[in-house]
Amino acid sequence: MNTLTNADLHCHSVISDGTLTPEVLAQRAKANGVELWALTDHDELSGQDRAIAAAGALGLPYLTGTEISVTFAGITVHIVGLGMDHKHPTLLTGLHATRNGREQRAREMSDDLARVGIPGVYEGALKYVGNPELISRSHFARYLVEIGVCKETNEVFRKYITEGKPGYVPHRWAALGDAVGWITQAGGVAVVAHPGRYKLTPNEEFALFTEFKAHGGRGVEVMTGAHGQADYVKYAGYCKEFDLAASRGSDFHSPEESHTDLGQLPDLPGTVTPVWELLRSRILQ
Ligand code: AMP
Ligand code: MN
Ligand code: MN
Ligand code: MN
Repeated sequence: MNTLTNADLHCHSVISDGTLTPEVLAQRAKANGVELWALTDHDELSGQDRAIAAAGALGLPYLTGTEISVTFAGITVHIVGLGMDHKHPTLLTGLHATRNGREQRAREMSDDLARVGIPGVYEGALKYVGNPELISRSHFARYLVEIGVCKETNEVFRKYITEGKPGYVPHRWAALGDAVGWITQAGGVAVVAHPGRYKLTPNEEFALFTEFKAHGGRGVEVMTGAHGQADYVKYAGYCKEFDLAASRGSDFHSPEESHTDLGQLPDLPGTVTPVWELLRSRILQ
């Protein structure tokens, strides 16, 4: 594993808000040259057995994964967990609690959209939901594209269902320390997902990384679909500043919607420690 570079440790299946099954994702990862894969469905582990079996059948080394929704400083931050025991009771209970409330939030989002003249979005979004416990804004976005309100899902997130726009309903997710604790107690490594996406002030970002470290967090996504060159450099620098390992993951959701496919990111810079070096004993192969 010393020469491993093409790890893809962040993507989504129909178990959360992706459009492909764990089996099809495993095949796509393998076909794209991925050498180490993790399926990281939002707030869920119920796809892990399928991902493990599919990766195993393809001879594709695998790390268990999830992406936990966290509320920090009033905004939503995502924490990826890698290499956990995916049957760990504390982790399972925590994720179950985090999923709670999505249903109610979805109904309120739909009511808000009805008030601006777009009725029936809850029922419409349900057609896209693969897991009844995991109704997501992505499913709303797909339905709004289907009915012609927007041309593509990105446009939906610009015009609707984000803060200040119709259909946005604030939600309280897990606490940062809880999410990091569940991952760590289950034997995994916690990673700050796509930090370049959050609209944090420098002080808030410093607080996020300081608290994340204090709770036992050990990694940060440097290479991810949402990052550009400036983010690669900035967060590789954070690896040194905060003594964190670097992760790499496309955040692939769908062939139609995601501009970065599985296994298609640039390599990590040589200056950082890849997160999989902390997880050698957790790799399934
Ligand atoms: P939720 O967990 O229900 O709030 O949904 C969050 C999901 O919406 C993220 O995981 C992304 O998949 C998707 N998302 C958020 N912002 C955007 C965006 N600007 N463009 C496309 N997808 C987005
Ligand atoms: Mn998503
Ligand atoms: Mn995310
Ligand atoms: Mn993601």
